[in-house]
Amino acid sequence: MKLTRLTMALAALALGASAATAQVTSLPAAKLFPNENAELVTLHLNKAREIAGDDLFLLYQQRCIIDQAFPIVDDDMQNAGLVLPTKAFEDLYFVGQNGVSAWLVKTNAGYVVFDALNNADEAENILVDGMKKLGLNPAELRFVVVTHEHRDHYGGAKYLQDTYGVQVVASEVAWTSMERATGTPVRNVTVADGQSWTVGGKTFQFFVTPGHTDGSLSTIIPVTDKGGKSHKAALYGGFGIPGNVTNKVKQIQSLQRFGVYTQAAGVDVIIGNHQVQDASLAKMDLARHRRCDANTCIDPNPFVIEKTVAGAKSTSPEKFRVYSRFLQVQEQCIRVNAARNGQVLPL
Ligand SMILES: [Zn+2]
Repeated sequence: MKLTRLTMALAALALGASAATAQVTSLPAAKLFPNENAELVTLHLNKAREIAGDDLFLLYQQRCIIDQAFPIVDDDMQNAGLVLPTKAFEDLYFVGQNGVSAWLVKTNAGYVVFDALNNADEAENILVDGMKKLGLNPAELRFVVVTHEHRDHYGGAKYLQDTYGVQVVASEVAWTSMERATGTPVRNVTVADGQSWTVGGKTFQFFVTPGHTDGSLSTIIPVTDKGGKSHKAALYGGFGIPGNVTNKVKQIQSLQRFGVYTQAAGVDVIIGNHQVQDASLAKMDLARHRRCDANTCIDPNPFVIEKTVAGAKSTSPEKFRVYSRFLQVQEQCIRVNAARNGQVLPL
């Protein structure tokens, strides 16, 4: 025993403390940031915390801390796996899996689904199967919108196109990139930045928001709650923080631009293309247990991000500022990430 400890101590001297710790415990090493600019991390981490307040704390914690400093936790939270398909609004449904989301919107002319999961198998056995479980007819699937040109978001699109004649929608840049890959669906619809697009009485607003990828597409989606109350949801195309400074700057500029449009539209619902980005697992569980009769609910819709301000009228614009604050938190988290890696971003 003594000899073992002596051997370990010598190994620690030879290899440095972190390597020795990993050797002793056989556990993965803690994430280290050798180039960190601690002062800037402190500045932006606390700024993000302040902007987040209490209502956005969980999302702040995920993006600024867990995702960056505790990748073993973040990765485990996003393991591929089945979750229950869920109705979030009268016309918005989750038909994705734990590792990547798919949001389906019901219109008077059929369904529009945002993202198609990793591959044909998932499109068939998760997305389409989820629709069936929710009582939605897959034959009425009309469009799949690709939020960005990474395989986990468009891998199942070709299957949906071939099987159900679904039209695939993406930005020009995303199409160009996807067309260089194999297993890409045939190009159907290309949408431009700022374009409004009406399907079956619903008008979607598209914005090209480069950063995570150059072809990321963000959308403002009108949704309706039980009892007929209208809300506006926003689905940002790609929150994943890019590695290099150029793309981080692009992403910040995109977030700021999208903030202007979402504020003007009165966005009050956050949905994301990964469940860790919108806390949708918890919100879906709440939605399934929401107490409602035919037309009214005792409990609020958990996806609506209104902030109640003491003394303010119900028409207070504060309730629409939550999404803007959410985007500002994302920007600060990008700045935290840059500072952890010793990168300097312009202010
Ligand atoms: Zn991606």
